[in-house]
Amino acid sequence: MAHAKYPKLFEPLNLGFTSLKNRFIMGSMHTGLEDSEKNFSKLAAFYGERAEGGVGLIVTGGFSPNRTGWFLPFSSKLSSHSEVARHQILTSRVHAAGGKMALQILHAGRYSIHPFAAAPSALKAPISPFKPWAMSHSKVLSTISDFARTAVLAQEAGYDGVEVMGSEGYLVNEFVAPKTNLRKDEFGGSIENRSRFATDIIKKIRSRVGSNFIIIYRISILDLVEKGSTFEEVLFLAKEIEKAGANILSTGIGWHEARVPTIATDVPRGAFTWATRALHEHTSLPVIAANRINTPEVGESILARGDADLISMARPYLADPHFVSKAFAAKADEINTCIACNQGCLDHIFKRKRATCLVNPRACFETEIIVNTTSTPQKIAVVGAGPAGLAFSVTAASRGHSVTLFESASEIGGQFNLAKKIPGKEEFFETLRYYRKQIEIHGVKLMLGIRASRADLKGFDKIVIATGIKPRIPQILGIDHKKVVSYVDLISGRVKAEKKVAIIGAGGIGFDTAKFILGLSEKHSVGDAEKINEFCKTWGVDQSLKTPGGLQNKISEKSDQKIYLLQRKPGHPGKSLGKTTGWIHRTFLKDHGVQMMGGVEYLKIDDLGLHIKQNEKVSVLEVDQVVTCAGQEPLKDLYQELIEEKPYIIGGAFEAFELDAKAAIKQGVVLASTIETATS
Ligand code: NAP
Ligand code: SF4
Repeated sequence: MAHAKYPKLFEPLNLGFTSLKNRFIMGSMHTGLEDSEKNFSKLAAFYGERAEGGVGLIVTGGFSPNRTGWFLPFSSKLSSHSEVARHQILTSRVHAAGGKMALQILHAGRYSIHPFAAAPSALKAPISPFKPWAMSHSKVLSTISDFARTAVLAQEAGYDGVEVMGSEGYLVNEFVAPKTNLRKDEFGGSIENRSRFATDIIKKIRSRVGSNFIIIYRISILDLVEKGSTFEEVLFLAKEIEKAGANILSTGIGWHEARVPTIATDVPRGAFTWATRALHEHTSLPVIAANRINTPEVGESILARGDADLISMARPYLADPHFVSKAFAAKADEINTCIACNQGCLDHIFKRKRATCLVNPRACFETEIIVNTTSTPQKIAVVGAGPAGLAFSVTAASRGHSVTLFESASEIGGQFNLAKKIPGKEEFFETLRYYRKQIEIHGVKLMLGIRASRADLKGFDKIVIATGIKPRIPQILGIDHKKVVSYVDLISGRVKAEKKVAIIGAGGIGFDTAKFILGLSEKHSVGDAEKINEFCKTWGVDQSLKTPGGLQNKISEKSDQKIYLLQRKPGHPGKSLGKTTGWIHRTFLKDHGVQMMGGVEYLKIDDLGLHIKQNEKVSVLEVDQVVTCAGQEPLKDLYQELIEEKPYIIGGAFEAFELDAKAAIKQGVVLASTIETATS
């Protein structure tokens, strides 16, 4: 019987020799645990929770078919029998939980970060320090065989199938696109030749694994780079891949070197499924849609529109392993939604740290952060309902502790209430919805509008201080001038932005404030299709699918606002922002005329504006408003007042420098998981 709320998502998919129990695919995502054999039991716990949570098919992070295809030296690879046993730990765990699993085979090509990098042609990628070797003809043939050998080993390890990574600008994609393939042999030149590497891999895998094994091909439908494939070429390749014996096409959007955001929070939900639909209309294979799908509603509507047959999400399952089972139980309001920040997942991977999740610090730490029912329930008072206080309260209450949460404001959220007002950061509304629901489910006693005093905190076994931060006021002559406001005044709506503004401080909040002032927030309240059209225009994505790579000129509306974004450090502002998102913020502000300046000394603020010195030159920025975004200081007053009672202190109140929600939520969850024994 069809599911009452999400009939399309919960319809099984019959592949003939096997079937998937629903349309939820956990897309491939590297976690960092793949790279070392000793971490496979942790990886098994990670995937096991997601399989228990009901995902139809899990695709692993990428495993290279040989050493040349390593992303980094000694990173994940499956090319010999000795490596099979560790994979059996994963497949048996997922199968025991009723799930299915495919191994992704990924040869990094010219994105490899090592001196043996190999590619169709010797063309260096802008995001790798190494120029690759051009593969000889015999190397091309042996690499095809290596892909097939990895598929056979995957079958031996108990996987239900493999996914061949043919998108995102990795090796297989490099053969297909004219940008990276200058070969003169039968693997270069015409689209027939450029497709041959991909199709030969699929044919060879099929011939080695037999017919009862899932083969997914990840096809790049929009390269989003100059001299990328045309959509006609994409359709040609898709047909050849189908003939070669693949069972499913998974759609990939954008190469890693593309300068168009594809998964960050600024990207509207389901922003690229119009392109998936264009492929879907021309193939009889089931097609998977991906990119910025983070709620069951969005997934269901994509399937209902006929844009795709399956929905791939990766980060949303980091945020909530029980996403699917909650959707099945029609409890979508209990899902901890991925906010597409990349701060815990991709930014970690690029820093060579284990991936995790800002909103769920247990992701990839399932065997280390254990949240179980307590045998010694405590009566706990928590002061402050910002990220740290919320994470602590709901986690402690879920374990059976009695939690009272005091908040002086009239709503929960703390700094999240500012973040949600920034254009492109509306996903924070979901985080607050999640916490509100968890407070209700776990019976946290919420005391809003109460500034907790010593008297209020009497009679509790434990006190947790999560009072957060206050904005730092920089010491500049004239800082008390009437034109000076803090980012809190502006974003909370207490003060309106003036036409000419200087922002002091170019950290994450300085960038957010510039975006807020640009006033693009209204555009985000229009309908989804309009949001997507606006996004495509701003970033130069060709929705007519006529241009190579799917790129066209950007159309940015120039603002009549004059904004200066300043920092004292030399160099370009924005270097401290996340690796995977910083360039998006910098590009966006530049395209909208914001003037970013580093190495600035602030001399004074007066009626004329902000007087500065840069490169030994003194000048006046004639602005009507100066907004301070100069970091934060901890609010520790209550903690200090109660110090003899040994309270715990978490979040910004504990450490305001590098204040960030990821650290705050992690501190809250970790303390809540051990509060009975933790020392303050
Ligand atoms: P931040 O990133 O530490 O930046 C503070 C800025 O203020 C810096 O540009 C700093 O640059 C300047 N500054 C510091 N002390 C100053 C002083 N005494 N006088 C004048 N300028 C001073 O802090 P934030 O922007 O408040 O962000 C806080 C945290 O929120 C970040 O760590 C980040 O994790 C998170 N966040 C991230 C994002 C994002 O990545 N998109 C967005 C929002 C928030 P100079 O010292 O060079 O002048
Ligand atoms: Fe999503 Fe951010 Fe978590 Fe990554 S860290 S899974 S982007 S919420």
